[in-house]
Amino acid sequence: MTKLGAHISIAGGHHKAIERINAIKGNCLQIFSSSPRGWNFVKLDEMQIQLFNESKNNLRIDPIYFHASYLVNLADDGRIGHLSKQSLINELNLAPLMGVKGSIVHLGSYKGEATPKKYQTLTKNIGEILEKTNSNSLFLIENAGNRKIGQTLEEIGQIVKDVGSNRVKVCLDTCHLFSNGYDLRSDRQLEELLLKFDKYIGIEKLELWHFNDSRDPLNSGRDRHENIGQGEIGLEEFRILLNHPKTKDYPFIIETPGFDGEGPDKKNLDILKSLVK
Ligand SMILES: [Zn+2]
Repeated sequence: MTKLGAHISIAGGHHKAIERINAIKGNCLQIFSSSPRGWNFVKLDEMQIQLFNESKNNLRIDPIYFHASYLVNLADDGRIGHLSKQSLINELNLAPLMGVKGSIVHLGSYKGEATPKKYQTLTKNIGEILEKTNSNSLFLIENAGNRKIGQTLEEIGQIVKDVGSNRVKVCLDTCHLFSNGYDLRSDRQLEELLLKFDKYIGIEKLELWHFNDSRDPLNSGRDRHENIGQGEIGLEEFRILLNHPKTKDYPFIIETPGFDGEGPDKKNLDILKSLVK
């Protein structure tokens, strides 16, 4: 069965996200561990963790990922870099207790010129996070859409190689790919992308996809998400990804604005399901 899920709010408790994804008929999930716009690191007690695991197992929601805070910048060598590291260390140690596979991370920005020193800070910080966290949790690099770190497969490949850990994997976001000129609206284009991914990163490093349509045209350098079928990408790319033998078994997670503006919803998932052959 196709693994289709959504980014869902944890308001009211982490287990509520499981009930919400089940209510809109998704079978995999992405959540924040705590507020994505602050640095308060979540601490869950045993009861909360147990409640989460019970809901997860009862409703068979799998896999589940964290999405790291939006404030993370691992190329920063000051306070922000330090807090970024601490929040990810906290998250990747919490993940295995909750049956969460790992954290999906926007690496951040070089804030101006990409110097060798800033690059070193970045890879050193990722290395330290991995060193201080549970060996079962994954550090998932998401491709960037808006002139931040990790826009191209070449760039991501370099980082993955230099960090050199089998716990580092990659999440590809369709909107961010589109924003950087990667057009996957034919089988041939998708196959080319996968070949390139294998060449620069290694295809075994691809873990999941974020499914978002794009408000902006191909190669715009912007990363504003749109509901499935309502943006510039259109439905064909999603149809191909959902059915191609080389991609159909990945988890696909939506982060769409929602048809009522309330975030990822059943309608977006239903449209995707209707594309599965
Ligand atoms: Zn995304």
